[in-house]
Amino acid sequence: MQVDYIIVGLGLAGLAFTKELDKNKKSFIVFEDHSQNSSIVAGGMYNPVILKRFTPVWNAIEQLEIAVPFYEELEKQFNKKYDFKVNIYRIFKSVEEQNNWFIACDKPLLSNYMVSQLINKNFEGVLAANGFGKLTNTGRIDTKALLEDYRNYLAERNLLKNESFEYAELKINDESVEYKNIKAAKIIFCEGFGLPKNPFFNYLPMQEAKGELITILAPKLNVDFLIKASVFVLPLGDNYFKVGATFNWKDKTKLPTEEGKQELITKLESFITVPYTIVEHTAGIRPTVKDRRPLVGKHPKFKNLAILNGLGTRGVMIAPVAAKALYNYLEEKVEIDKEISIDRFQHLCLD
Ligand SMILES: Cc1cc2nc3c(=O)[nH]c(=O)nc-3n(C[C@H](O)[C@H](O)[C@H](O)COP(=O)(O)OP(=O)(O)OC[C@H]3O[C@@H](n4cnc5c(N)ncnc54)[C@H](O)[C@@H]3O)c2cc1C
Repeated sequence: MQVDYIIVGLGLAGLAFTKELDKNKKSFIVFEDHSQNSSIVAGGMYNPVILKRFTPVWNAIEQLEIAVPFYEELEKQFNKKYDFKVNIYRIFKSVEEQNNWFIACDKPLLSNYMVSQLINKNFEGVLAANGFGKLTNTGRIDTKALLEDYRNYLAERNLLKNESFEYAELKINDESVEYKNIKAAKIIFCEGFGLPKNPFFNYLPMQEAKGELITILAPKLNVDFLIKASVFVLPLGDNYFKVGATFNWKDKTKLPTEEGKQELITKLESFITVPYTIVEHTAGIRPTVKDRRPLVGKHPKFKNLAILNGLGTRGVMIAPVAAKALYNYLEEKVEIDKEISIDRFQHLCLD
């Protein structure tokens, strides 16, 4: 079999790059072994404001300009809704925070998203003595449904191999790569926290962060917006809410833990007082990088090997723009922005 590209990993990164290939009529085959599940468990939120400090997320507006139409195209392709517009209500801890919010509202970048009005309404079962700051034009991508549909779409066309990519089997030639019976011009690695097992790119400084989430059923919690306090409470419809997420830099497994669950319950009950039942508990590893920027580009020595990783805590917004940048670089020779290019870590590569 001969293809233009082999893709390893079909989370948000693999999906975004594969979609670029599909659009440009390039041939490809994808390997996916279900060893990681960050994209499947993710809250799926997109929002250009850091809710701790009320500052803009790095490059958020440029990312959203590409991301929103990207998910719209997928909705059209599969005739299904993935992008659910959800406002965010940030609970203020103090009057000082209220003041900081209003100062931030005046910044031109954020004025389309931050509402410069204090929300003082009471919602049953929600403790918010200092009121809320409201964010609009934000939303949630149903990443689980999207990935399921995309994986089925590729499987139906025989473009998906549900198996582990074995790195030792890869042969690298001058103008191509060979893997078992497949010959390809290039291979793109999109393994999320599978990266440490990749002998070609594991020199890159990933600083992964495990996250746990619970899904609750809370019939008396009558809100259709995301509530953000020490954790977020995200409405999924039919009285279900996702609550998350924890950050753990030590545990490298994707297994849900009792400790993670207890942390979420304690934080949730500090501002939500209605009864609820926990119906699901999930965990995943965020592929975060030391400098909190994505990992995009070609291997310093092997020009047919490339990577798309490091989407960190914001894969929904970053994946589409980073995939486009990698595609344009490989196919159109458009330089990759220095901030996301893996060239910044070239000194760490010992090959
Ligand atoms: C709890 C939690 C909440 C989050 N909430 C949000 C949020 O609200 N908004 C947001 O934007 N982001 C969120 N994120 C972050 C987001 O999930 C990630 O940025 C993004 O999903 C990473 O995508 P990825 O494709 O790089 O990695 P992954 O989703 O991990 O995908 C990598 C894929 O590669 C496969 N793979 C690995 N090695 C191999 C191999 N050798 N052979 C074959 N296949 C392989 C894995 O099985 C996996 O499917 C959250 C993450 C977590 C954990």
